[in-house]
Amino acid sequence: MSISLPLRPGLEGETPYGAPELDVPVRLNVNENPYPPSPAVIESIATAVAQAATGLNRYPERDFPDLRAALADYLAAESGGRLDPTRIWAANGSNEIMLHVLQAFGGPGRTCLTFTPTYSMYPEYARDTLTEYATRPRRADFTIDAEGAAAAIEELHPAVVVLASPNNPTGTALPLADIQAILGSARGNGPIATVGARGGGDGRPGRTDCVVVIDEAYAEFRRPGVPSALELLVDGANPHLAVTRTMSKAFGAAGLRLGYLAASRELVDALRVVRLPYHLSALTQAAALAALDHREELMGQVASLRSERDALVAWLRGRGCTAHESDANFVLFGPFEDRDAVFAALLERGVLIRVVGPEGYLRVSIGTPDEMEAFRSALDGVLAGTGPRAPRAAAERP
Ligand code: PMP
Repeated sequence: MSISLPLRPGLEGETPYGAPELDVPVRLNVNENPYPPSPAVIESIATAVAQAATGLNRYPERDFPDLRAALADYLAAESGGRLDPTRIWAANGSNEIMLHVLQAFGGPGRTCLTFTPTYSMYPEYARDTLTEYATRPRRADFTIDAEGAAAAIEELHPAVVVLASPNNPTGTALPLADIQAILGSARGNGPIATVGARGGGDGRPGRTDCVVVIDEAYAEFRRPGVPSALELLVDGANPHLAVTRTMSKAFGAAGLRLGYLAASRELVDALRVVRLPYHLSALTQAAALAALDHREELMGQVASLRSERDALVAWLRGRGCTAHESDANFVLFGPFEDRDAVFAALLERGVLIRVVGPEGYLRVSIGTPDEMEAFRSALDGVLAGTGPRAPRAAAERP
């Protein structure tokens, strides 16, 4: 039977996003925390979920004040400076947080600006909210030229600028001075205010402040001395700044689906308008609260993941690869003449990594010491040509 569905224009030929889900011994492809929760954490989560289940006949709390307060406490401990819980928002992964941001501020006739190479889901959030997607290139070291960014903002008047820091897939953290410069350029350079909205101060609709999102999904892995953009929120400055975080990475709870955002209360209130009612299940809220109680234990693993990462960068360089400094739990390395062949040869040795980022490069997530040893010996085998394929490293591009 032939079928002709009225697919929305723009979705023709599109396929669902996602890295391959392969059952191999060493999975280093989606930047997860390799350590499963300890028995104590499992016990706390199970108890909390059982308690929440006693009230499952009722809808969950729509605005989850307890969870927002616990997240505010966590951010204060992790980055210094406590924000009022009304300035925190949460959803099913930072994926859903970004969707809320673009549902509230993007839309037809509006633009979202990012700097590539960067996280490959950003164009999908834009597509799904009918927002125009524009990119400008990062510098060769994957930082952002603040002057070039200012020019792009003045030209495009985007509603939203998204900056991942540390960036995926490069691991690059942005200096606060550059973020501050971009926040300055974003002021008064967003789309024209809609009728009835506050404009430029002279009563006429003027230009709004473009929302700047710093996606800090990997922030807990940053090296000592690297600041978080949360610092720019603390004294109530920058009402157009939003910092997004997640429990999927450092926190070791990717399966929980809990992402969150810190911003001005006004910005959070705009997100509350577009969220589905009861978007965060009672079980998610209970499990997240229980997991947050164990943050010290989880942070202990972050320290060892950081040192594995730094050791891996040094090891890759010792093998003649370019490996980029990383403030995240992954490393971008290469270049290879045929990166797909290197990926496939590693997979044949039971190690799954990711083909992503600039041509010739690959990304590997940081696993346990045993997993990293397996990765190193597999890559050694691949580079030495012992095995079915023997791809060569390409000459570094200028
Ligand atoms: N931002 C970045 C930069 C990411 O790499 C990821 C996950 N790959 C996310 C956001 C989404 O994370 P989650 O939805 O699991 O919170």
